[in-house]
Amino acid sequence: MSGEDTIAAIATPLGRGGIGMVRLSGGRSLEIASAFIRLAQFPPEVQRATLGEFFDPASAGTMDQVVATHFRAPHSYTGEDVLEICCHGAPVVLEYLLECCLARGARLAEPGEFTMRAFLNGRIDLAQAEAIRDLIDSRTLYQARVAAQQMEGAVAARLKRPKEALVELIAILEAGIDFAEDDVPVSGWENISLRAGAIQRELATMAESGRLGKVIREGLSLAIAGRPNAGKSSIFNRLIDQDRAIVTEIPGTTRDLVSETANLSGIPLRLIDTAGIRETVDRVERIGVEKSCQAIADADLRLLVIDTSEGLTAEDEKLYKKLRPLGPMVIACNKSDLPPKVTPDDLARWFTPPSTEDSIPVVWVSALTGDAIPALHQAVLSLVAPGHAIRPEGELMTNLRHQQCVQSALGSTDKALQAAAQRIPHEMLLLDLYDALHALDAVTGATTTDDLLTVIFSTFCVGK
Ligand code: GDP
Repeated sequence: MSGEDTIAAIATPLGRGGIGMVRLSGGRSLEIASAFIRLAQFPPEVQRATLGEFFDPASAGTMDQVVATHFRAPHSYTGEDVLEICCHGAPVVLEYLLECCLARGARLAEPGEFTMRAFLNGRIDLAQAEAIRDLIDSRTLYQARVAAQQMEGAVAARLKRPKEALVELIAILEAGIDFAEDDVPVSGWENISLRAGAIQRELATMAESGRLGKVIREGLSLAIAGRPNAGKSSIFNRLIDQDRAIVTEIPGTTRDLVSETANLSGIPLRLIDTAGIRETVDRVERIGVEKSCQAIADADLRLLVIDTSEGLTAEDEKLYKKLRPLGPMVIACNKSDLPPKVTPDDLARWFTPPSTEDSIPVVWVSALTGDAIPALHQAVLSLVAPGHAIRPEGELMTNLRHQQCVQSALGSTDKALQAAAQRIPHEMLLLDLYDALHALDAVTGATTTDDLLTVIFSTFCVGK
């Protein structure tokens, strides 16, 4: 990818639409376009939409009306001269427009090349570039908000303090080494440990926010389990808020897995409605039951549905015992609109948690009337991300690469702390601190290698 040539791509998604856009970036953008674009004013006023026409360079006949916007370097997305040509969103016209750009000497942009140029020209740092991709990829508004914060530079802002503290500590140690022979007092071990400890705590908090960041980025899966007719499909429909799973009164009708992604306060939650689990001789139903068991084991979270109008059965207990060791779970006591054959005391006796720390949330709901469904949502959410709702978007570290960098910096800081505790010579300690600094630098791109850049930008769509 060279920054010298002018690149072009269709920046709007494939397919028909009201408007489509071809974007050119590079020193020859305007000159190339002038061969097939006639504008009301040429050269067009910068950063203003100018009406014009796209004409066929072969016949000079009109192809479409266009609106072009010219951004002059360095005041553009890429930091180069950019021309954005909007025409009607007809794929053939857009492709022909792009072809005309290429015929006049533009090169087809690689995926992410516009954003890569923005990075190389210092318009944005690497974390901001990645946030642009995350924004485009976001599936919930919350994900988009987090990405938008990071696009504004939230990641760099968050790293600023630990980085400054690292640089300070490195400077102190370097000075100590430089002046050691001149008998200048070297900073005490205690001071070093104190500073390194503060950095380590800050990085540890950041790494912890990465756990929730992963949940926001990737979402979670929730398997809904329970014996036939407990109301799993009805609860599934309530949670996704639409009729997707088939609800019937005949036990054993949900034979296959039905899954749908719901938006749980911004977290993409994949709900899996499993076949009712029971002993069965029916071969087809048995395959369904086996698949269900697999899905239940694979899911991040489990929701056990109990039919309170029937009372607790040996099957419920068996299922509970099966689910319990698999990880976090919530119990939905369904059909609360009917007279219960279960009391909260029965439940407490049945579902005694091993310790209060892993107490299982129990919610009484009615899938039929919708009663307490928000409480069920809340119980699932509290399991996924305690305090999620109050955490400001800017504090989250959602990008896996950033998380790995912070983890690596944390590991190096740990080593430095140990070295300080063992009074190991400063030279060695410095190596660890430099490692930590480089790991943090890699987040925003201060120490990026070409390989890393290629990997990151190749995950973008063309035209971005
Ligand atoms: P599944 O086999 O566990 O998926 O159960 P379904 O969702 O298919 O529901 C089985 C039957 O119970 C259907 O007739 C539902 O209408 C009924 N049902 C589900 N939830 C409730 C509820 O909260 N109250 C009442 N009264 N009936 C319910």
